[in-house]
Amino acid sequence: MVKIASIGSGSKGNGTLLAAGETLLLIDCGFTLKETEKRFLDLGVAPSDLSAILVTHEHGDHANGVAALSRRYNLPVYMSHGTHLTGRCSDVHQAVCFDAGECFSIDEIAVSSIMVPHDARQPCQYVFRVGKLKLGLLTDVGHVTPHIVESYQNCDYLILEFNHDLAMLNSGPYPPSLKRRVGGDLGHLNNHQAAELLFYAEHPGLKRVLIAHISQQNNSLDAVESAIKQRLGSHFDKHQFATQEAGFDWVCLDLDAQAAGPEHLSRKAVGV
Ligand SMILES: [Zn+2]
Ligand SMILES: [Zn+2]
Repeated sequence: MVKIASIGSGSKGNGTLLAAGETLLLIDCGFTLKETEKRFLDLGVAPSDLSAILVTHEHGDHANGVAALSRRYNLPVYMSHGTHLTGRCSDVHQAVCFDAGECFSIDEIAVSSIMVPHDARQPCQYVFRVGKLKLGLLTDVGHVTPHIVESYQNCDYLILEFNHDLAMLNSGPYPPSLKRRVGGDLGHLNNHQAAELLFYAEHPGLKRVLIAHISQQNNSLDAVESAIKQRLGSHFDKHQFATQEAGFDWVCLDLDAQAAGPEHLSRKAVGV
């Protein structure tokens, strides 16, 4: 059984669980130790069940709780050399470092680290494979590159950032410097950029899309819906939303989700 859940998603903290057989991974931990333990309990698992923590980058909403959780439960922490060098995740039980772009395995889960444009040191997002099943995780990305489009083709499941609505960001309460950062090439995906990527990732074998890292200040579910409908058509209904408060509950991943293989014929040309 392969399944995913989120303990929370947004600028105040992130954490995604991926379970495959006996292997349980936590990708990012932006919450305090106490808050993380509580959120695990809500999902019916214990931090002591974890096999490892995997980090995307050093920003606090992804890394704040990593070191304490790692030390408390003797967990190895996988991260890029760049993330490690920032010192935000250095005081951990055991650091396992890799170069952005490397592929490796954590027990039953094959992990591909994907280099992404974001204002952090060697930030990575991830594609996971368990047998034939492919799951993509993509948040904290300033713009969509051809490498990203290529890497997230033919996913069976996708966790994808829809961070902000550009008009809401521009007219919202953030100071000008923060607006430039969030909306810039090394910031976050706006709804239209994310919908564009989803358009390229969409194929008959894509079962479900978890919409993540939604800004509470600069976005709304209606704005996300409208961007999706505009780009993918009003019939598109494979998505559900992750929240800051509760993330999303366990979603079981269908191991037979291979309607489209890697050579799926209607694959769209990379045009982003
Ligand atoms: Zn973030
Ligand atoms: Zn970030």
